Amino acid sequence: MTLAHTLGYPRIGAGRELKKAVEAYWQGESDQATLQATGAELRARHWQAQRDAGLDFVTVGDFAFYDQVLNVSALIGAVPPRFGDVAGAIDLDTTFRMARGRAPTGTPAAACEMTKYFDTNYHYLVPELQPGQTFRVASEQLFREVDEAHGAGHPVKVALTGPLTWLWLGKEKAAAGFERLELLDGLVAVYGEILARLAGQGVEWVQLDEPALVQDLPRAWQQAYETAYNKLQSAPVKLLVASYFGELGDNLNLAAGLPVDALHVDCVRAPEQLERVLDRLPAYKILSLGAIDGRNIWRADLAALRESLATARMRLGERLWLAPSCSLLHVPVDLGAETRLDPELKRWLAFARQKLDEVATLARLLDGRGEAADHAYLQAASEALESRRQSTRIHKPAIGERLAAVSAADARRPSGYPQRARTQRARLDLPLFPTTTIGSFPQTGEIRAARRAFKRGELDAAAYEARMREEIAFAVERQQALGLDMLVHGEPERNDMVEYFGEQLDGFAFTDNGWVQSYGSRCVKPPVIFGDVSRPAAMTVRWSEYAQSLTDKPMKGMLTGPVTILQWSFVRDDQPRETSCRQIALALRDEVADLEAAGIQAIQIDEPALREGLPLRRAHWQRYLDWAVECFQLSAAVARDETQIHTHMCYSEFNDIIEAIAALDADVITIETSRSDMELLDAFQEFAYPNEIGPGVYDIHSPNIPQVDWMVQLMDKAAEKVPAERLWVNPDCGLKTRGWAEVEPALANMVEAARVLRKRH
Ligand code: GLN
Ligand code: ZN
Repeated sequence: MTLAHTLGYPRIGAGRELKKAVEAYWQGESDQATLQATGAELRARHWQAQRDAGLDFVTVGDFAFYDQVLNVSALIGAVPPRFGDVAGAIDLDTTFRMARGRAPTGTPAAACEMTKYFDTNYHYLVPELQPGQTFRVASEQLFREVDEAHGAGHPVKVALTGPLTWLWLGKEKAAAGFERLELLDGLVAVYGEILARLAGQGVEWVQLDEPALVQDLPRAWQQAYETAYNKLQSAPVKLLVASYFGELGDNLNLAAGLPVDALHVDCVRAPEQLERVLDRLPAYKILSLGAIDGRNIWRADLAALRESLATARMRLGERLWLAPSCSLLHVPVDLGAETRLDPELKRWLAFARQKLDEVATLARLLDGRGEAADHAYLQAASEALESRRQSTRIHKPAIGERLAAVSAADARRPSGYPQRARTQRARLDLPLFPTTTIGSFPQTGEIRAARRAFKRGELDAAAYEARMREEIAFAVERQQALGLDMLVHGEPERNDMVEYFGEQLDGFAFTDNGWVQSYGSRCVKPPVIFGDVSRPAAMTVRWSEYAQSLTDKPMKGMLTGPVTILQWSFVRDDQPRETSCRQIALALRDEVADLEAAGIQAIQIDEPALREGLPLRRAHWQRYLDWAVECFQLSAAVARDETQIHTHMCYSEFNDIIEAIAALDADVITIETSRSDMELLDAFQEFAYPNEIGPGVYDIHSPNIPQVDWMVQLMDKAAEKVPAERLWVNPDCGLKTRGWAEVEPALANMVEAARVLRKRH
């Protein structure tokens, strides 16, 4: 019998109950017992959903009040000493302080770093690693949850981040010379203890997540996998090593050969590896196939899967398990909660709850033990798929024709940067060290209230537009008073930099409750790109035109770039990602042309997500960068020489992609640099980056007002790396999360810093 399971389930709850409970607790509006009760309730509900769907195990250990990697750090006592008494049991508030610096109890301390989990939009807390660090079982939470699930009568499989991936995700916090693999022995020993305790509780199976196996592993790390699992094989439980997010590639032999009872592989991202895995898998080992997409929201093609997995079923017999490709953490909870989504589109989708049904149904069908209901389910899936294949809402021949007609010249500005810079200088007449901002000004409570009222129908479109114009007028007036050189309209009309564009483009749909955890209590609701993308009408022109009419200073138009829109959406799976990206790029190209025709002299195309789109394997980087850069250029290159194209990126590390950044050929790039003390400019200096740069001079995440001297000093440093004629002065990022009371003095100081700099250079 093919066993059905899931690597993990979303924990936020269909109504984001976890977010609300955790935030109420942080704000002191509820106590820890209430929070714990909500946690227990959600776990019970999610386990029951897995049982109701017909899975053979419930997964325990995927729940977390903040983050599952942080939970493992607490479980193994990997808590930095700045969080106080870390020798005793690590309690919930200590984990909250690690995550956010403070909690209802305990002394505040600097939070741990947070970063993206592999190529997802989920953020984990980075384990801090020190020489000589020891590990011990330091939290009872996991064991309590196991008892809870047993108490409810469920067959349990425990899921935990594996020791090598935990270490891989960590960061060395010590002087050079310390190599984190030194910690492996102690780490494996504590995992051994945990496994023994779980066995004592009656747990038979433990899944150790090892997605690091789909990345380029140095030789020492490959060896470490062998060492670690050779030791863990004596644990009195059965181990499932789970790889996901890509193909095992050169780690295939290693993964297949680990002395554990089962291996999970991702057959959605890397279906072509199945045959090789089947060839390499030792005869004793169970293979868990990740066949249902855990990273996207499309309904599975069960008929096709039944066919393509038939060989695996035959070869493996009882040794086949089925699961989603990865934890369902990365998709929304329940399609059933969508009431406004139109029925045709809804039929094409599956969220976490539906994916459980898909897994269990597919397992039964593969075994030939499907009942009438299973065959009907498969039939319905096939019909939905057929309707999707045929739908004229998805397939717009005109868009395909336009894409096919794109030539290399369309992705190139008419002249090179030096020529453009001369034309732009003459037209814009900017001083040395021109000042600007990144786009947004404070999204005040009033702005958000107006938008809510508009969405609820309490404010009509005309009144809403008038309110937003007032906000724009206010922002323009403030910027003029501050003496900024290039102005922005302030983006009051935008709820979110992707949603705003998605709502106006054809081919996008929006859910009511399609929330996915991003970090801690933060959830995002990514748009769904379901069809060919086009732009029925101009999206930003009237706002920019109005803003420009209020001032003689140049007004920067503001767009979100094609790669970022793609990256922060659920993308259709029936054509390559790059095709969807090109379609978005062409829609934005028309917007650029319209802005230019409306007299806008500078246009910023934000691409903060360009870097996070990088594939997990280096060998695949160049291909991605080629099309990502081309898409940006397709959007931008319609602009005439005299129109200044800006871009903005707010992440660190440009070293390894500096060539691609330069290939974007934006006239100006603004980046986040203040926290790195301008060190991020080194990459630009070494590459002799030829165009203009605005290295952020202050951190917008902090409420502190930056001082003039400090910013002058930073820019002096910048001027050692980039010629002063090519430098701009601006904050690190948009100002929408700040209040005007902070923004005004901060920008006043920034403008003053630019004046000081002009005298010096
Ligand atoms: N223009 C956007 C803003 O200022 C850019 C945001 C971002 O880079 N994430 O808000
Ligand atoms: Zn930014």
